[in-house]
Amino acid sequence: MNYFSTNNPSQKVSFQEAVRKGLPDDNGLFLPEEIPVLPDSFFKGLPNLSLQEIGFEVARLFVGNEIPEADLKTLVYEVLSFETPIVKVEEDVYSLELYHGPTLAFKDVGARFMARCLSYFNEIENEQVTVLAATSGDTGSAVANGFLGVDGVQVVLLYPKGKVSQFQEKQMTTLGQNIKALEIDGSFDDCQKLVKTAFLDQELSRKLGLTSANSINIARLIPQSFYYFYAYGQLVKQTNKPIVFSVPSGNFGNLTAGYFAQQMGLPIHHFVASTNVNDIVPHYLQTGEFSPKPSVATISNAMDVGNPSNFVRLNYLLDNSQKAFSKSVTGTAYTDEETKGALKELHALDYTADPHGAVGYLGLKEYQEINDVAGIFLETAHPIKFKEVVEPTLDIKLDIPDSLKAFLKREKVAINCSSHYQDFRQTLMDL
Ligand SMILES: *Cc1c(COP(=O)(O)O)cnc(C)c1O
Repeated sequence: MNYFSTNNPSQKVSFQEAVRKGLPDDNGLFLPEEIPVLPDSFFKGLPNLSLQEIGFEVARLFVGNEIPEADLKTLVYEVLSFETPIVKVEEDVYSLELYHGPTLAFKDVGARFMARCLSYFNEIENEQVTVLAATSGDTGSAVANGFLGVDGVQVVLLYPKGKVSQFQEKQMTTLGQNIKALEIDGSFDDCQKLVKTAFLDQELSRKLGLTSANSINIARLIPQSFYYFYAYGQLVKQTNKPIVFSVPSGNFGNLTAGYFAQQMGLPIHHFVASTNVNDIVPHYLQTGEFSPKPSVATISNAMDVGNPSNFVRLNYLLDNSQKAFSKSVTGTAYTDEETKGALKELHALDYTADPHGAVGYLGLKEYQEINDVAGIFLETAHPIKFKEVVEPTLDIKLDIPDSLKAFLKREKVAINCSSHYQDFRQTLMDL
Protein backbone atom coordinates (compact mmCIF):
# COMPACT_ATOMS: atom_id res chain seq x y z
CA MET A 1 0.00 0.00 0.00
CA ASN A 2 1.28 3.46 -0.90
CA TYR A 3 0.69 6.68 0.97
CA PHE A 4 0.47 10.24 -0.31
CA SER A 5 0.75 13.70 1.19
CA THR A 6 -2.42 15.76 1.56
CA ASN A 7 -0.42 18.68 0.12
CA ASN A 8 0.73 16.79 -2.95
CA PRO A 9 -1.35 13.71 -3.83
CA SER A 10 0.90 12.73 -6.74
CA GLN A 11 3.91 12.23 -4.43
CA LYS A 12 3.71 8.65 -3.12
CA VAL A 13 5.74 6.76 -0.54
CA SER A 14 5.68 3.23 0.86
CA PHE A 15 4.18 2.38 4.25
CA GLN A 16 7.69 2.01 5.62
CA GLU A 17 8.69 5.49 4.50
CA ALA A 18 5.47 7.03 5.81
CA VAL A 19 6.08 5.48 9.24
CA ARG A 20 9.75 6.39 9.36
CA LYS A 21 9.29 9.97 8.22
CA GLY A 22 6.13 10.68 10.21
CA LEU A 23 5.51 13.87 8.23
CA PRO A 24 5.97 14.50 4.51
CA ASP A 25 8.55 17.18 3.60
CA ASP A 26 5.81 19.41 2.24
CA ASN A 27 4.20 19.72 5.70
CA GLY A 28 1.06 17.82 4.70
CA LEU A 29 -0.05 14.56 6.31
CA PHE A 30 0.18 11.04 4.94
CA LEU A 31 -2.97 9.21 3.86
CA PRO A 32 -3.37 5.77 2.29
CA GLU A 33 -3.68 5.86 -1.51
CA GLU A 34 -7.04 4.18 -1.11
CA ILE A 35 -8.90 2.99 1.94
CA PRO A 36 -9.19 -0.76 1.48
CA VAL A 37 -12.64 -2.36 1.72
CA LEU A 38 -13.11 -5.62 3.62
CA PRO A 39 -15.13 -8.47 2.07
CA ASP A 40 -18.69 -9.37 3.13
CA SER A 41 -17.44 -12.62 4.64
CA PHE A 42 -15.37 -10.60 7.13
CA PHE A 43 -18.43 -8.66 8.30
CA LYS A 44 -20.56 -11.81 8.56
CA GLY A 45 -18.00 -13.35 10.90
CA LEU A 46 -17.22 -10.12 12.76
CA PRO A 47 -19.20 -10.84 15.96
CA ASN A 48 -17.14 -13.98 16.47
CA LEU A 49 -13.72 -12.47 15.82
CA SER A 50 -11.32 -11.51 18.59
CA LEU A 51 -9.68 -8.10 18.68
CA GLN A 52 -6.39 -9.70 17.63
CA GLU A 53 -7.95 -11.50 14.66
CA ILE A 54 -9.60 -8.28 13.53
CA GLY A 55 -6.36 -6.35 13.99
CA PHE A 56 -4.46 -8.70 11.75
CA GLU A 57 -7.09 -8.69 8.98
CA VAL A 58 -7.25 -4.90 8.95
CA ALA A 59 -3.51 -4.24 9.35
CA ARG A 60 -2.49 -6.46 6.45
CA LEU A 61 -4.56 -4.35 4.05
CA PHE A 62 -2.81 -1.14 5.15
CA VAL A 63 0.68 -2.61 5.35
CA GLY A 64 0.58 -4.72 2.19
CA ASN A 65 3.58 -6.92 1.55
CA GLU A 66 6.03 -4.67 3.39
CA ILE A 67 5.83 -6.89 6.46
CA PRO A 68 5.36 -10.62 5.70
CA GLU A 69 2.05 -11.94 7.04
CA ALA A 70 3.53 -14.22 9.68
CA ASP A 71 5.63 -11.39 11.13
CA LEU A 72 2.72 -8.96 10.96
CA LYS A 73 0.49 -11.40 12.78
CA THR A 74 2.99 -11.76 15.62
CA LEU A 75 3.41 -8.00 15.74
CA VAL A 76 -0.35 -7.28 15.88
CA TYR A 77 -1.00 -9.99 18.47
CA GLU A 78 1.72 -8.52 20.69
CA VAL A 79 0.29 -5.03 20.35
CA LEU A 80 -3.23 -6.19 21.26
CA SER A 81 -2.35 -8.23 24.31
CA PHE A 82 -5.06 -6.56 26.39
CA GLU A 83 -8.84 -6.31 26.17
CA THR A 84 -11.02 -3.49 24.82
CA PRO A 85 -14.41 -4.54 26.19
CA ILE A 86 -17.74 -2.77 25.74
CA VAL A 87 -19.61 -2.31 29.00
CA LYS A 88 -23.34 -1.59 29.17
CA VAL A 89 -24.00 1.60 31.15
CA GLU A 90 -27.72 1.93 30.53
CA GLU A 91 -30.24 1.07 27.79
CA ASP A 92 -28.60 1.71 24.37
CA VAL A 93 -25.51 3.25 25.97
CA TYR A 94 -22.19 1.42 26.06
CA SER A 95 -18.68 2.37 27.12
CA LEU A 96 -15.82 1.11 24.99
CA GLU A 97 -13.07 0.78 27.58
CA LEU A 98 -9.77 1.50 25.89
CA TYR A 99 -7.73 1.82 29.06
CA HIS A 100 -6.68 -1.72 29.82
CA GLY A 101 -3.21 -1.30 28.29
CA PRO A 102 0.04 -0.70 30.21
CA THR A 103 -0.34 3.07 30.64
CA LEU A 104 -4.11 2.98 31.14
CA ALA A 105 -5.07 5.11 28.13
CA PHE A 106 -6.12 4.36 24.56
CA LYS A 107 -2.89 5.78 23.17
CA ASP A 108 -1.21 2.50 24.10
CA VAL A 109 -2.76 0.86 21.03
CA GLY A 110 -1.33 3.32 18.54
CA ALA A 111 2.01 3.78 20.27
CA ARG A 112 2.67 0.04 20.57
CA PHE A 113 1.83 -0.60 16.93
CA MET A 114 3.97 2.27 15.70
CA ALA A 115 6.90 1.22 17.90
CA ARG A 116 6.87 -2.33 16.61
CA CYS A 117 6.57 -1.27 12.97
CA LEU A 118 9.45 1.15 13.33
CA SER A 119 11.55 -1.46 15.08
CA TYR A 120 10.78 -4.00 12.36
CA PHE A 121 11.89 -1.63 9.60
CA ASN A 122 14.97 -0.49 11.55
CA GLU A 123 16.17 -4.03 11.89
CA ILE A 124 16.02 -4.46 8.14
CA GLU A 125 17.76 -1.17 7.42
CA ASN A 126 20.06 -1.39 10.41
CA GLU A 127 19.48 2.26 11.21
CA GLN A 128 19.04 4.36 14.33
CA VAL A 129 16.19 6.79 14.77
CA THR A 130 15.23 9.27 17.45
CA VAL A 131 11.56 9.61 18.25
CA LEU A 132 10.67 13.06 19.54
CA ALA A 133 7.37 13.67 21.27
CA ALA A 134 6.00 16.67 23.09
CA THR A 135 3.45 15.63 25.67
CA SER A 136 1.00 17.06 28.12
CA GLY A 137 0.91 13.64 29.79
CA ASP A 138 -0.79 10.69 28.10
CA THR A 139 1.13 10.63 24.84
CA GLY A 140 4.47 10.58 26.64
CA SER A 141 3.70 7.62 28.84
CA ALA A 142 2.15 5.58 26.03
CA VAL A 143 5.03 6.31 23.67
CA ALA A 144 7.62 5.59 26.35
CA ASN A 145 6.07 2.24 27.20
CA GLY A 146 5.48 1.34 23.57
CA PHE A 147 9.10 1.96 22.63
CA LEU A 148 10.78 0.68 25.78
CA GLY A 149 13.65 -1.63 24.90
CA VAL A 150 13.03 -1.36 21.15
CA ASP A 151 16.35 -1.72 19.31
CA GLY A 152 17.58 1.15 17.17
CA VAL A 153 15.11 3.64 18.62
CA GLN A 154 15.94 6.38 21.10
CA VAL A 155 12.93 8.17 22.55
CA VAL A 156 13.04 11.75 23.79
CA LEU A 157 9.97 13.09 25.55
CA LEU A 158 9.45 16.76 26.28
CA TYR A 159 7.03 17.69 29.01
CA PRO A 160 6.24 20.99 30.72
CA LYS A 161 7.77 21.17 34.18
CA GLY A 162 5.17 21.05 36.95
CA LYS A 163 2.25 20.73 34.53
CA VAL A 164 1.72 16.98 34.31
CA SER A 165 0.16 14.80 36.98
CA GLN A 166 2.32 12.76 39.36
CA PHE A 167 1.24 9.50 37.73
CA GLN A 168 2.00 10.76 34.27
CA GLU A 169 5.41 12.04 35.28
CA LYS A 170 6.35 8.76 36.95
CA GLN A 171 5.23 6.80 33.90
CA MET A 172 7.53 8.86 31.68
CA THR A 173 10.60 9.36 33.83
CA THR A 174 11.24 6.03 35.54
CA LEU A 175 11.71 3.62 32.66
CA GLY A 176 15.36 4.17 31.78
CA GLN A 177 16.90 2.17 28.90
CA ASN A 178 16.22 3.97 25.60
CA ILE A 179 13.74 6.46 27.08
CA LYS A 180 14.91 9.99 27.95
CA ALA A 181 12.63 12.55 29.55
CA LEU A 182 13.29 16.28 29.20
CA GLU A 183 11.61 18.47 31.75
CA ILE A 184 11.13 21.75 29.93
CA ASP A 185 10.96 25.00 31.84
CA GLY A 186 7.90 26.24 29.97
CA SER A 187 4.41 25.34 28.77
CA PHE A 188 3.15 22.47 26.62
CA ASP A 189 3.01 24.88 23.68
CA ASP A 190 6.73 25.62 24.24
CA CYS A 191 7.45 21.86 24.12
CA GLN A 192 5.53 21.52 20.89
CA LYS A 193 7.34 24.47 19.38
CA LEU A 194 10.74 22.98 20.24
CA VAL A 195 9.79 19.72 18.55
CA LYS A 196 8.54 21.49 15.43
CA THR A 197 11.70 23.60 15.23
CA ALA A 198 13.84 20.48 15.56
CA PHE A 199 12.07 18.82 12.64
CA LEU A 200 12.76 21.87 10.48
CA ASP A 201 16.44 21.84 11.55
CA GLN A 202 17.71 19.73 8.64
CA GLU A 203 21.18 19.16 10.06
CA LEU A 204 19.89 17.96 13.42
CA SER A 205 17.08 16.00 11.87
CA ARG A 206 19.43 14.09 9.60
CA LYS A 207 22.05 13.55 12.28
CA LEU A 208 19.62 12.02 14.77
CA GLY A 209 17.14 10.50 12.30
CA LEU A 210 14.26 12.36 13.86
CA THR A 211 10.72 11.05 13.60
CA SER A 212 7.43 11.92 15.24
CA ALA A 213 5.30 9.75 17.49
CA ASN A 214 2.34 12.07 17.69
CA SER A 215 -0.91 11.05 16.02
CA ILE A 216 0.22 12.73 12.84
CA ASN A 217 2.10 9.46 12.26
CA ILE A 218 -0.08 7.15 10.19
CA ALA A 219 1.09 4.13 12.20
CA ARG A 220 -0.63 5.57 15.25
CA LEU A 221 -3.94 5.88 13.42
CA ILE A 222 -4.29 2.57 11.61
CA PRO A 223 -4.45 0.37 14.74
CA GLN A 224 -7.00 2.67 16.32
CA SER A 225 -9.51 1.50 13.72
CA PHE A 226 -9.31 -2.08 15.06
CA TYR A 227 -11.40 -1.50 18.16
CA TYR A 228 -14.24 0.13 16.24
CA PHE A 229 -14.71 -3.15 14.38
CA TYR A 230 -14.48 -5.14 17.58
CA ALA A 231 -16.94 -2.95 19.51
CA TYR A 232 -19.40 -2.96 16.62
CA GLY A 233 -19.17 -6.75 16.35
CA GLN A 234 -19.94 -7.10 20.05
CA LEU A 235 -22.84 -4.64 20.10
CA VAL A 236 -24.55 -5.89 16.95
CA LYS A 237 -25.22 -9.11 18.86
CA GLN A 238 -27.32 -7.12 21.32
CA THR A 239 -29.24 -4.58 19.26
CA ASN A 240 -31.08 -4.08 15.97
CA LYS A 241 -30.76 -0.31 16.13
CA PRO A 242 -28.28 1.70 14.06
CA ILE A 243 -24.97 2.07 15.90
CA VAL A 244 -23.21 5.39 16.49
CA PHE A 245 -19.88 6.18 18.12
CA SER A 246 -19.23 9.24 20.27
CA VAL A 247 -15.53 10.08 20.29
CA PRO A 248 -14.03 12.44 22.89
CA SER A 249 -11.68 14.37 20.66
CA GLY A 250 -8.60 16.60 20.82
CA ASN A 251 -6.32 16.12 17.84
CA PHE A 252 -8.99 13.96 16.14
CA GLY A 253 -6.75 10.94 15.56
CA ASN A 254 -9.25 8.61 17.18
CA LEU A 255 -12.15 9.91 15.13
CA THR A 256 -10.15 9.72 11.91
CA ALA A 257 -9.43 6.06 12.70
CA GLY A 258 -13.16 5.46 13.17
CA TYR A 259 -13.79 7.08 9.83
CA PHE A 260 -11.25 4.69 8.26
CA ALA A 261 -13.24 1.77 9.74
CA GLN A 262 -16.47 3.11 8.29
CA GLN A 263 -14.88 3.57 4.86
CA MET A 264 -13.58 0.01 5.05
CA GLY A 265 -17.19 -1.10 5.11
CA LEU A 266 -18.14 -1.09 8.80
CA PRO A 267 -21.77 0.16 8.81
CA ILE A 268 -21.31 2.82 11.53
CA HIS A 269 -24.43 4.97 11.33
CA HIS A 270 -22.89 8.24 12.51
CA PHE A 271 -20.10 9.82 14.58
CA VAL A 272 -20.42 12.33 17.36
CA ALA A 273 -17.31 14.48 17.85
CA SER A 274 -17.44 15.41 21.53
CA THR A 275 -15.06 18.09 22.74
CA ASN A 276 -14.53 20.28 25.78
CA VAL A 277 -14.64 24.07 25.33
CA ASN A 278 -11.81 23.76 22.82
CA ASP A 279 -14.53 23.45 20.21
CA ILE A 280 -12.67 24.15 16.96
CA VAL A 281 -14.27 21.28 15.03
CA PRO A 282 -17.85 21.63 16.40
CA HIS A 283 -17.51 25.30 15.47
CA TYR A 284 -16.42 24.36 11.95
CA LEU A 285 -19.36 21.98 11.57
CA GLN A 286 -21.75 24.74 12.54
CA THR A 287 -20.27 27.65 10.64
CA GLY A 288 -17.97 26.24 7.96
CA GLU A 289 -15.10 28.23 9.46
CA PHE A 290 -12.02 26.43 10.72
CA SER A 291 -10.42 28.87 13.14
CA PRO A 292 -7.63 27.48 15.34
CA LYS A 293 -6.95 29.43 18.51
CA PRO A 294 -4.81 29.04 21.64
CA SER A 295 -6.06 26.16 23.77
CA VAL A 296 -7.95 26.69 27.03
CA ALA A 297 -7.12 24.53 30.07
CA THR A 298 -9.90 22.12 31.13
CA ILE A 299 -10.37 19.05 33.34
CA SER A 300 -10.26 16.84 30.23
CA ASN A 301 -6.79 18.15 29.44
CA ALA A 302 -5.77 15.55 26.84
CA MET A 303 -8.31 17.28 24.62
CA ASP A 304 -7.06 20.83 25.22
CA VAL A 305 -6.12 21.33 21.61
CA GLY A 306 -6.51 24.63 19.79
CA ASN A 307 -5.43 23.41 16.35
CA PRO A 308 -6.45 19.76 15.86
CA SER A 309 -3.69 18.18 13.81
CA ASN A 310 -5.80 15.51 12.13
CA PHE A 311 -8.43 17.95 10.89
CA VAL A 312 -6.56 18.23 7.59
CA ARG A 313 -6.77 14.47 7.10
CA LEU A 314 -10.42 14.14 7.96
CA ASN A 315 -11.36 17.15 5.88
CA TYR A 316 -9.40 15.82 2.91
CA LEU A 317 -11.24 12.50 3.12
CA LEU A 318 -14.52 14.41 3.30
CA ASP A 319 -13.84 16.38 0.10
CA ASN A 320 -13.01 19.55 2.07
CA SER A 321 -16.75 20.02 2.32
CA GLN A 322 -18.56 21.17 5.45
CA LYS A 323 -21.70 19.51 4.10
CA ALA A 324 -20.06 16.11 3.66
CA PHE A 325 -18.38 16.45 7.06
CA SER A 326 -21.68 17.26 8.81
CA LYS A 327 -23.39 14.31 7.17
CA SER A 328 -20.92 11.92 8.84
CA VAL A 329 -20.12 13.79 12.04
CA THR A 330 -22.10 15.82 14.58
CA GLY A 331 -20.03 18.14 16.78
CA THR A 332 -20.81 19.01 20.39
CA ALA A 333 -18.85 20.80 23.11
CA TYR A 334 -19.15 20.83 26.90
CA THR A 335 -17.92 22.90 29.83
CA ASP A 336 -16.11 21.50 32.85
CA GLU A 337 -19.28 21.91 34.93
CA GLU A 338 -21.23 19.81 32.44
CA THR A 339 -18.45 17.24 32.39
CA LYS A 340 -18.54 16.96 36.19
CA GLY A 341 -22.31 16.60 35.98
CA ALA A 342 -21.84 13.69 33.56
CA LEU A 343 -19.31 12.04 35.88
CA LYS A 344 -21.96 12.16 38.61
CA GLU A 345 -24.72 10.91 36.32
CA LEU A 346 -22.59 7.98 35.27
CA HIS A 347 -21.63 7.25 38.85
CA ALA A 348 -25.31 7.09 39.75
CA LEU A 349 -25.59 4.41 37.05
CA ASP A 350 -22.78 2.54 38.79
CA TYR A 351 -20.17 3.47 36.24
CA THR A 352 -17.02 5.41 37.07
CA ALA A 353 -15.71 7.28 34.05
CA ASP A 354 -12.82 9.67 33.53
CA PRO A 355 -13.47 13.27 32.38
CA HIS A 356 -12.75 12.43 28.69
CA GLY A 357 -15.16 9.50 28.65
CA ALA A 358 -17.71 11.72 30.40
CA VAL A 359 -17.50 14.24 27.55
CA GLY A 360 -18.09 11.36 25.12
CA TYR A 361 -21.11 10.25 27.16
CA LEU A 362 -22.60 13.77 27.03
CA GLY A 363 -22.24 13.90 23.25
CA LEU A 364 -23.90 10.54 22.84
CA LYS A 365 -26.82 11.38 25.12
CA GLU A 366 -27.45 14.65 23.33
CA TYR A 367 -27.48 12.88 19.95
CA GLN A 368 -29.86 10.24 21.31
CA GLU A 369 -32.36 12.91 22.37
CA ILE A 370 -33.45 13.14 18.75
CA ASN A 371 -32.14 9.89 17.23
CA ASP A 372 -33.24 6.38 18.15
CA VAL A 373 -29.87 4.67 18.00
CA ALA A 374 -27.65 2.44 20.08
CA GLY A 375 -24.45 4.22 21.01
CA ILE A 376 -20.93 3.60 22.15
CA PHE A 377 -18.81 6.29 23.76
CA LEU A 378 -15.07 5.79 23.84
CA GLU A 379 -13.71 5.66 27.39
CA THR A 380 -10.18 6.79 26.56
CA ALA A 381 -8.49 6.73 29.98
CA HIS A 382 -8.75 4.97 33.31
CA PRO A 383 -10.39 7.26 35.89
CA ILE A 384 -7.35 6.88 38.18
CA LYS A 385 -5.27 8.88 35.67
CA PHE A 386 -7.49 11.84 36.48
CA LYS A 387 -8.04 11.13 40.14
CA GLU A 388 -7.46 14.81 41.01
CA VAL A 389 -10.78 15.51 39.26
CA VAL A 390 -12.74 12.28 39.70
CA GLU A 391 -12.27 11.77 43.45
CA PRO A 392 -13.47 15.18 44.68
CA THR A 393 -16.27 15.33 42.09
CA LEU A 394 -17.69 11.97 43.14
CA ASP A 395 -16.55 12.15 46.75
CA ILE A 396 -14.96 8.71 46.47
CA LYS A 397 -11.51 7.16 46.82
CA LEU A 398 -10.28 5.21 43.80
CA ASP A 399 -8.14 2.10 44.09
CA ILE A 400 -4.73 2.42 42.52
CA PRO A 401 -4.07 -0.44 40.07
CA ASP A 402 -0.96 -2.50 40.87
CA SER A 403 0.69 -1.52 37.59
CA LEU A 404 0.60 2.13 38.64
CA LYS A 405 1.78 1.44 42.18
CA ALA A 406 4.94 -0.05 40.74
CA PHE A 407 5.69 3.20 38.87
CA LEU A 408 5.14 5.32 41.95
CA LYS A 409 7.88 3.49 43.81
CA ARG A 410 10.49 4.13 41.14
CA GLU A 411 12.95 7.04 41.03
CA LYS A 412 12.27 9.90 38.62
CA VAL A 413 15.08 10.62 36.16
CA ALA A 414 14.64 13.69 33.97
CA ILE A 415 16.97 16.17 32.29
CA ASN A 416 16.23 19.83 32.92
CA CYS A 417 16.17 22.07 29.91
CA SER A 418 15.09 25.63 29.20
CA SER A 419 12.61 26.43 26.44
CA HIS A 420 15.29 28.11 24.29
CA TYR A 421 15.90 26.20 21.11
CA GLN A 422 19.70 26.36 21.27
CA ASP A 423 19.73 24.84 24.77
CA PHE A 424 17.37 22.13 23.66
CA ARG A 425 19.42 21.41 20.54
CA GLN A 426 22.61 21.09 22.57
CA THR A 427 20.88 18.81 25.07
CA LEU A 428 19.76 16.53 22.25
CA MET A 429 23.23 16.40 20.74
CA ASP A 430 24.74 15.50 24.12
CA LEU A 431 22.37 12.63 24.91
C1 LIG B 1 -5.24 11.89 23.50
C2 LIG B 1 -6.49 11.72 24.27
C3 LIG B 1 -7.76 12.07 23.73
C4 LIG B 1 -7.91 12.74 22.40
O1 LIG B 1 -7.67 11.87 21.31
P1 LIG B 1 -7.43 12.45 19.85
O2 LIG B 1 -7.11 11.25 19.02
O3 LIG B 1 -6.27 13.40 19.95
O4 LIG B 1 -8.67 13.14 19.43
C5 LIG B 1 -8.89 11.80 24.48
N1 LIG B 1 -8.80 11.23 25.71
C6 LIG B 1 -7.61 10.90 26.25
C7 LIG B 1 -7.60 10.30 27.61
C8 LIG B 1 -6.41 11.12 25.55
O5 LIG B 1 -5.25 10.77 26.11
